[in-house]
Amino acid sequence: MTPENPEPTPETRKPSILEQTEQAIVEWLGERGFPKYRARQILSWIYQRRLDTFHDMSDLPKELRTQLAEHFCIFTGKTAESQHSEDGTEKLLIELADGGRIECVLLRDGPRRSVCISSQVGCAMGCVFCASGLDGVDRNLTRGEILEQMLKLQRLLEPEERLSHIVMMGMGEPLANLQRVLEALAVAKDSDFGLGISPRRITISTVGLPPAIDKLAGSNSPYQLAISLHAPNDELRTRLVPVNRSVGIEPIMAAADRYFNATGRRLTFEYVLLKNLNDSPACAEQLVKLLRHRNAMLNVIPYNPVPGLPYETPAPEAIHEFRRILMEGGINVMFRQRKGNDIQAACGQLRRLREREPHVVSLSN
Ligand code: SAH
Repeated sequence: MTPENPEPTPETRKPSILEQTEQAIVEWLGERGFPKYRARQILSWIYQRRLDTFHDMSDLPKELRTQLAEHFCIFTGKTAESQHSEDGTEKLLIELADGGRIECVLLRDGPRRSVCISSQVGCAMGCVFCASGLDGVDRNLTRGEILEQMLKLQRLLEPEERLSHIVMMGMGEPLANLQRVLEALAVAKDSDFGLGISPRRITISTVGLPPAIDKLAGSNSPYQLAISLHAPNDELRTRLVPVNRSVGIEPIMAAADRYFNATGRRLTFEYVLLKNLNDSPACAEQLVKLLRHRNAMLNVIPYNPVPGLPYETPAPEAIHEFRRILMEGGINVMFRQRKGNDIQAACGQLRRLREREPHVVSLSN
């Protein structure tokens, strides 16, 4: 065993209770002669009252607490590093039981307490400007590992504060791990024992995978959908977002429209502005044509430079002109403020910094 890949401690060899559905816990309790209402008590201690040990669950019989501690752990990962930005943003680098590393972020914005959560170790989508996918994907996260990020960030809050928003915009492609993402979000939105966050305040961000968008639309969970567009035509999008080659903008827009029709949720499109690549007035004009007739919001994000990658943030004048064309075209456009600039807060940046020297990727293809 190397220090980078430590043997899991006995504690982490036990399954995490975060992997268990309420029903599974009810069955576990039943097998041991405990009533099923204990399941909600246990879960609300973890998700609502922020306890990290079974022993402190004071309204449970001692025998039950002992048995819980024998069978389960709560957290399986450990915080390998935490960074605190001057603007209140906090980022955690979590080392999972198998040594995989993921990132998650807490953003404080007025009364909002938002968390940005990862869905995979690495990412297979290969967006050329993003730090998360430079080495491909290692694996999907489990439901417990997705929930664990939310809980670790929740525990950074003051006791009177609550998490208010979730964005699935950390490492990975959430729609490539849809089943587990939905299981975790079901707990996030549950107000009986879970985090009690309304689906209106939960955003799933995707590179745009039409079959999975349709599945999400049919899942009866009206989450906000954000589609990472980044280019208004296929030629440019395929350069920036290689997975686009086998998908294409039109099928994505059609799936997005079906999502809107099924859920009534206004769509968000994300557009990372990259200097001299997708920030031209012509791109802005094409975007207007693409989005004008849709009930959509365009979220324009100035690029957060990744060390070692050759991409740059456009100059303020170019950003201003881009915005002007969109607004004059009647698009609902929002310019997202970058947060946590001083702490490597863009997806995958911190993990990458801690792993090795960044690769240099050529722009010439
Ligand atoms: N795979 C999903 C979710 C993760 S990325 C998706 O593609 O939407 C979340 C958002 O951050 C995406 O829009 C992504 O393109 C953007 N992003 C990635 N790296 C960035 C960077 N360095 N600066 C700004 N935005 C970035």
